[in-house]
Amino acid sequence: MIEVLKGDITKIEVDAIVNAANTSLLGGSGVDGAIHKVGGTAILEDCQKIRSKQGGCKIGEAVITTAGKLPAKFVIHTVGPVWNKGKNNEEKLLASAYFNSLKLASDNQIQSISFPNISTGIYKFPKQKAAKIAIKTVSDFLTTTANLKKVIFVCFDEENYKIYSELLKKMKPRK
Ligand code: ADP
Repeated sequence: MIEVLKGDITKIEVDAIVNAANTSLLGGSGVDGAIHKVGGTAILEDCQKIRSKQGGCKIGEAVITTAGKLPAKFVIHTVGPVWNKGKNNEEKLLASAYFNSLKLASDNQIQSISFPNISTGIYKFPKQKAAKIAIKTVSDFLTTTANLKKVIFVCFDEENYKIYSELLKKMKPRK
């Protein structure tokens, strides 16, 4: 099941919240800042352990930590690409960020997961293009897993909310 909501991802009760992190895993601005602020230091401690093992997280990959004080069991940190006019394989890398987050969720028996609109903030990925990639990757993945049951796209800005609502309506014309 795919849903779209408008609001703050740190308030959504799910098994796992996805963070649009950066390669350092040390926190940043935007949704990353909000997740660390609300979740507390336990998340950063787990991120530091991952850093000492594998030196952060590459673009398109994902890692999992505790969710600290957030209303979730886990945070899945993934790193989306910075948009550079499509010259750096950004579309593939964004699809990988979604896919690897979903795979990690499924491997950890996670049933519900919420995604922010990865890369569409500071990283400037065009929103419509990003939404199409996100919805396609998620809907394809849901046909391959028995564990994962619910995926929520949490849109912070009205523009993304409208884009997702319209694209999802087209997928389910009878609803
Ligand atoms: P990126 O660097 O991947 O672009 P940003 O955090 O700048 O990451 O933005 C990613 C998306 O997250 C943007 O669409 C932004 O509006 C959204 N966002 C920012 N804060 C929150 C929040 N608290 N909950 C959900 N989405 C958020």
